[in-house]
Amino acid sequence: MSHVLAAVAWPYANGPRHIGHVSGFGVPSDVFSRYMRMAGHDVLMVSGTDEHGTPIQVQADAEGVTARELADRYNRVIVEDLHGLGLSYDLFTRTTTRNHYAVVQELFTALERNGYIVKRTTLGARSPSTGRTLPDRYIEGTCPICGYDSARGDQCDNCGNQLDPEQLINPRSKINGETPEFVETEHFFLDLPAFAEAIGNWLDQRENWRPNVLKFSRNLLDDLQPRAITRDLEWGVPIPLDGWRDRNDKRIYVWFDAVIGYLSASIEWARRSGEPEAWRKWWSADGDGKDALGYYFMGKDNIVFHSVIWPALLLGYSGEGDKGGDPGELGRLNLPTEVVSSEFLTMEGKKFSSSRRVVIYVRDFLERYDADALRYFIAVAGPESNDTDFTWAEFVRRNNDELVAGWGNLVNRSISLAAKNFGAIPAVSELTPEDEALLAVARTGFATVGELIGKHRQKAAIGEAMKVVAEANKYLSDQAPWKLKSEEQKPRQGTVLAVALQVVSDANTLLTPFLPHSAQKVFELLGGEGVHAPMPSIEQVDDLDGGPSYPVLTGDYTIGARWESVPLVAGTPLAAPKPVFRKLEPSVIEEELARLAG
Ligand SMILES: [Zn+2]
Repeated sequence: MSHVLAAVAWPYANGPRHIGHVSGFGVPSDVFSRYMRMAGHDVLMVSGTDEHGTPIQVQADAEGVTARELADRYNRVIVEDLHGLGLSYDLFTRTTTRNHYAVVQELFTALERNGYIVKRTTLGARSPSTGRTLPDRYIEGTCPICGYDSARGDQCDNCGNQLDPEQLINPRSKINGETPEFVETEHFFLDLPAFAEAIGNWLDQRENWRPNVLKFSRNLLDDLQPRAITRDLEWGVPIPLDGWRDRNDKRIYVWFDAVIGYLSASIEWARRSGEPEAWRKWWSADGDGKDALGYYFMGKDNIVFHSVIWPALLLGYSGEGDKGGDPGELGRLNLPTEVVSSEFLTMEGKKFSSSRRVVIYVRDFLERYDADALRYFIAVAGPESNDTDFTWAEFVRRNNDELVAGWGNLVNRSISLAAKNFGAIPAVSELTPEDEALLAVARTGFATVGELIGKHRQKAAIGEAMKVVAEANKYLSDQAPWKLKSEEQKPRQGTVLAVALQVVSDANTLLTPFLPHSAQKVFELLGGEGVHAPMPSIEQVDDLDGGPSYPVLTGDYTIGARWESVPLVAGTPLAAPKPVFRKLEPSVIEEELARLAG
């Protein structure tokens, strides 16, 4: 038994999630966590909404609401989306909690004390008429790289390059059009080069990472530069230093605070559990948590934050960069065990884009289709190791041909036949080699499928589980228990159905991490009682330190099925089953494509 941290990328709270967002890391991290719990590990799965930074402030300004109001709105929407998908977070929180602020400031303070945060003078923009600082987002001008004439002071939306406002050609204030003046201003920078050696040593010891992630991360080390961790902005975590903490125009940069969320969410979870120090079992590099494993799930555009920057923060906090130092009051902290990055999902051949309406939001999807239909598609055809395309035609085909005609049909016909002929799970009389062979295939699946999920090869894993399903369907066709009707054939009919039902039960357990909603139903169809696949719930909680209340996603996942074959008990009553999966009409494809075309 290990302590396993599942650290899932933080969705940015500026809009609802589309299926591209959840297919890369949302669903895969849940599959992994569910499997690890079933296999007996103590899993802590945490994340939350990332709510600071310029884009949320800009959008809030445009809508005439406060940044906090905008973040509140989308925090709730995202919590509901993830709940609808059945993602089993131990805690899904947010970055605007007081607990998060305190943890971010503790890391900042210790890094500064250890010498890894340096002050630098840079050029900042000021309004000549008011004398006020002009945040980067309020400055517009021509991009020096691509010539786009409405580039923002922090980024060009045309070429995607990060900019500093003083690089803009013909800069102007978006508030009143005047030309800003650039004056010297102070900001704090993280001394990333001081961690190059320590991170390099750590990367050298990594095993099992996807090779592209490791290579990409190593290359980043060749050109590490100090990175700004504060910004001219009023929306964010205040800088915890004398002379700075009360300033309204300087905040900690959103990337610095968001990545610390993994730690602050773990601490919040522990405080809410009544055991405030329990987070150490997943984090402490010296005490309880020194053998813990930490898996980080994200899209490939976020690798740098998890394989270089977050390790740098953890090393600096623990006093383990070039400048040494002492650990902060939380003690030495564990670095990630593995950075599990996914590739991108496109939609009908195009990049997802809310503004161009190339999108399907999770909530719209779940209004029309079942969560497990999407979870199945993501598992078998998601962007695990290649960019992949979501098409409605493929979604309908996989749902109908594989989920409904393969797995659903096996469940339905085996339980129907047993219910009709026996009214209960029949007894086994004598097993033939064919029976033994099928039972063995299902039993072997636990090792095969489990090992693949543990290695983040979920596509192969569900493929193995579906092979068991295919074998069982073939067995039923070969044995044709519906023909074994005479009195002397009855014991054989019972045996065949009992074998088939046992394999249904085993296959259902193998599929539980992927398809938890339907796994609960199949479990109940087989006469099971209680929780087979635990589900998250949304709870409105008080901020632990006096801030406003907010919704979290949480649950008790210690209950439910284990990763093993559980012998069915002959005589357990069975009723005629309702279909577990819904067949989709081909007309769905045209309807959805028409919606996309707007
Ligand atoms: Zn540009």
